[in-house]
Amino acid sequence: MLEKVLYPTDFSEVSEKALDYVLLLRKAGAQEVVLLHVVEGKEVEAILGAAPWFGKSKEEMREEVEKRIREDREKVLDGIASRLEKEGYRVKRMVVFGNPVKEILRVEEEEDVSIIVMGSHGRTNIMEMLIGSVSEKIVRNAKRPVLVVRR
Ligand code: ATP
Ligand code: MN
Repeated sequence: MLEKVLYPTDFSEVSEKALDYVLLLRKAGAQEVVLLHVVEGKEVEAILGAAPWFGKSKEEMREEVEKRIREDREKVLDGIASRLEKEGYRVKRMVVFGNPVKEILRVEEEEDVSIIVMGSHGRTNIMEMLIGSVSEKIVRNAKRPVLVVRR
């Protein structure tokens, strides 16, 4: 029943806390983890806005920036993946560009996962917020059970 875990991470402290529970689920029989990181459009725009152009077209610049971001984020995922592999997990790494909620729900469906494990908050982590907007929308719309780990 707990075969495949979807662990979406924004590399925040709270999502790092959620990773402990992904590791625990191994003992409950989970076999595989889909590690998902979504790069939001505004992150790409921020870097594009600050980068020098050197006569390149906006499209060429965007491609280059996305490639660099992808490489960086893949390296971070590699670190997390080796921790999971040490526990005996099979790991699938995914860096995608887009809207976190949409991409998490798409991967939930496409990978037919058993459970989603995520943090209650992420990088914004506003004190007054009971739960982050990504977590709220996933709890509302996911088909599978969602384990939301408190900050
Ligand atoms: P908000 O984004 O609404 O300002 P927040 O950043 O504090 O608030 P969320 O973004 O909802 O909170 O983060 C909750 C959890 O959702 C994170 O711990 C992480 O598991 C997941 N998550 C958030 N953003 C991403 C992302 N870009 N890629 C993958 N997972 C994410
Ligand atoms: Mn967030």
